[in-house]
Amino acid sequence: MLKTMKAPGMYIQGYNVIDEFATHVTRLGKRPFIIGGKTALSRVEKRMLPGINIYDLDCNFTAFTGRGTKKDALDLASRALSHSADIIVGVGGGLAIDTAKAVSHRTDLPLIIIPTVASTDAPCSSVALLYTWDHIIDEIVQLKRNPDIVIVDTRIIAEAPVRFFVAGMGDALSTWFEANTCEKTGAKNLTNARPTLAGNAIARLTYDTIMQYGESAKMAVELKTVTPAVEMVIEANCYLSSIGFENCGLGAAHSFGIGVGSLKGTEDCLHGELVSFGVIANLLIENYPFDEIEKVLRFCIAVGLPVTLKELGVDDPSRENIQYAGKACFGPGSNLKNLSFDVTEELAADIILATDALGRKYKDIDR
Ligand SMILES: [Zn+2]
Repeated sequence: MLKTMKAPGMYIQGYNVIDEFATHVTRLGKRPFIIGGKTALSRVEKRMLPGINIYDLDCNFTAFTGRGTKKDALDLASRALSHSADIIVGVGGGLAIDTAKAVSHRTDLPLIIIPTVASTDAPCSSVALLYTWDHIIDEIVQLKRNPDIVIVDTRIIAEAPVRFFVAGMGDALSTWFEANTCEKTGAKNLTNARPTLAGNAIARLTYDTIMQYGESAKMAVELKTVTPAVEMVIEANCYLSSIGFENCGLGAAHSFGIGVGSLKGTEDCLHGELVSFGVIANLLIENYPFDEIEKVLRFCIAVGLPVTLKELGVDDPSRENIQYAGKACFGPGSNLKNLSFDVTEELAADIILATDALGRKYKDIDR
């Protein structure tokens, strides 16, 4: 049986580790082309500069459009080449990270990822999504390898708005359930092989860490503090979840995230917020024991993850509208084929409505 395990060359996490940026760059190059959102770049640039000056690095800081389109990746790749860059650096959230990954792929240059928010499972994987201008998945880029170095400064993550941190937990909640689907059905991971024991253990550890430390970590991040629980959840969001999904495979949660994300009103939702709604849908469609569903649902409500369509911004829960979302669950990036039975658009729509009803009920109970 063919099994594979992929991970970034090095994962570095700690308080103020951004100060060591230049030291890590020098192991790979001297002319970094640094891509990020304006806010993200402004949060790290000053901290990077002393090291950049000491090592005499020739850096180019470039803000991207914030959309992560194919055009962004092409434009930035040609600008990186004009800079004679020898390394690509991605700074920011999921879109900036994925754009930098695509630029590294197109230029065939080494890659450093610096997440400034712990909002997605993107940092460590070798997959990048590019979007159309109105945020529909346009291309799934499979990189030749995972990022060479991932640098996660826990202080920077804790100082970002807590909503991002919570969304990252929503994304990470999906890892184990989707891995479990693939384990049961024999579906392949993202390199078309079966997961290793290590991969599955990491996926399970992601779930256990989030459930055990998530609430306390959220409270600490609200105060912009870094406690051991915050460190554990950052590792779960940025590292465990990222390696977990890539090495174990995907199933229903992300597919439902894509489905509800197609609905009008969800434009401002973060990836992890859509996926966490998808996690409840995942548990319902695979008919998990109700106590497990209830446990996850209560956790989502406790940390403030959306569990109803209304919280996602959907004002029209009509059957016709939800049928549209049911269809979108099968769009680009869908992995519903990995389930042990055939899923129809009607069933997907039913599950979305059932998820919403359950969420509304428990929001009321917990009020
Ligand atoms: Zn995700």
